[in-house]
Amino acid sequence: MALLDSADLMNYELYMAEAIAEARRGAEEGETAVGAVAVLDDAMIARDHCRTLLQNDPTAHAVLLTVQATARKLGAKRLSEVTIFTTHEPCAMCVGSLLEGRVRTLVFALSDAKRGAAGGALQLARDASLPHQVAIISGVREAEVLRLGAAEPATA
Ligand SMILES: [Zn+2]
Repeated sequence: MALLDSADLMNYELYMAEAIAEARRGAEEGETAVGAVAVLDDAMIARDHCRTLLQNDPTAHAVLLTVQATARKLGAKRLSEVTIFTTHEPCAMCVGSLLEGRVRTLVFALSDAKRGAAGGALQLARDASLPHQVAIISGVREAEVLRLGAAEPATA
């Protein structure tokens, strides 16, 4: 991991708080408590939460929905400057969307040893055999996400 100065760390905490708020919104709607936000140039440009039950769609994960919304807003080419914040380590599908979008940085709170594809269960995000690797920062506000109680995220 790259060394972070204190200003960077503060922003990470701030944006992760927004991802946690998004996860809570999902939980209030009966979803798994997983949230994500996209940040470009110190501004939040998209945010969403898990919608697999609401949309009856097993692919409606917070990160994937946020990447799609970001691409619609910016045009897909500019995703290379985007940082995605999410409460839970993303699955292979969601990491795939980060790779396809050439997203620069992924920040997540809680690792997922069962399904995480950013080092938890497998390391797809930084696989050197692929043309793009995503920078990863983990553990930001981890204790708060643990308290969200999404024991089986499966939807990050
Ligand atoms: Zn996912």
